[in-house]
Amino acid sequence: MLNFKPLNKIIAKNNSFLITTHVNPDADAIGSEIALSIFLRRLNKEVRIINHSETPYFLKFLDNKKVIEKYDESQHSSIIANCDVIITLDLNALSRTVSMEENIRKSKALKVCIDHHTDPEDFTEYLFIDPDLSSTGEILFDFIKESSEENLNYDLALPIYAAILTDTGSFRFDRTTPRLHRITAELLEAGVNPQWVYREIYEQGKQSRIRLLGRALNSIKLNETGELAYMKILNIDLNETGADEADVDGFVNYCLSIKGVKLGILFFEMDDEVKISFRSAGNIPVNKLAAEFNGGGHINASGARVENAGIDELINKVLKSAEKYLAGKN
Ligand code: 5GP
Ligand code: MN
Repeated sequence: MLNFKPLNKIIAKNNSFLITTHVNPDADAIGSEIALSIFLRRLNKEVRIINHSETPYFLKFLDNKKVIEKYDESQHSSIIANCDVIITLDLNALSRTVSMEENIRKSKALKVCIDHHTDPEDFTEYLFIDPDLSSTGEILFDFIKESSEENLNYDLALPIYAAILTDTGSFRFDRTTPRLHRITAELLEAGVNPQWVYREIYEQGKQSRIRLLGRALNSIKLNETGELAYMKILNIDLNETGADEADVDGFVNYCLSIKGVKLGILFFEMDDEVKISFRSAGNIPVNKLAAEFNGGGHINASGARVENAGIDELINKVLKSAEKYLAGKN
């Protein structure tokens, strides 16, 4: 387990905290922010949660007190500059805070990163990273358990459960350990209702999301050996179906559901960039593949954002690189 003593010291010595996370936040990002903010508020700390992206609609139930703010330079830059501590959650590269990046870099606040990705960028004074754990939520579970006298109550258990649920692909990815299930048991004992949480996150989809999924599935192509599948979503698909960026979350996994496919890629055209999601089965290190395009992530799940790229040209480049990893020549 990580040594959390330095983190407890930082919290004891400081008063005002800014919590933030990555663009297009998932339940690990939002759930971790909510859990940490509850913990800090219990200690009477001043806490703001400010993100580049708005919270996706299917995660708003985690923010029932509406404490998460969307970043607005004129309103928030002084907070970034003047708070005592900035804690980034669930990211290992500061560029993933997009519009907030520059101000965070410039800020004199103490910077702390709590995360479960490998190869962190060196942008913080304090790193609490465990890439062997399923989620940032799991790290926070350990931290909060170690640092509080009381049992975890429902308010803390719910966001941590949501973080773990989604980052393990509903308890199926490789870091779904016996230890993780024991943690989950404690969260259920604190009152979390798994059916309800699953329904909130995965079964409140808008019709437009399903229509977009239909297009994404139709776009799937395989390479010659049938080991690689990729899908393509264009700006026009989003506009015509009325779906939004957050709706695309999870689509890439369908590529891996085809027999024989070991590497799945989603190319998602946005206004001035293309977002790529990589997923692999077994030991194909898609984080290395993503790194070739300035991205990163985990061995089996990673991503990148490429600015000002023509999508078809980019697809050709990425597919070419991907073949190296399929052939084990990386
Ligand atoms: P997703 O494909 O779901 O957006 O992201 C999968 C994983 O890749 C996440 O764990 C995320 O941390 C990582 N990831 C996605 N996009 C980027 C990126 O642009 N840069 C970096 N460093 N990691 C990314
Ligand atoms: Mn995560």
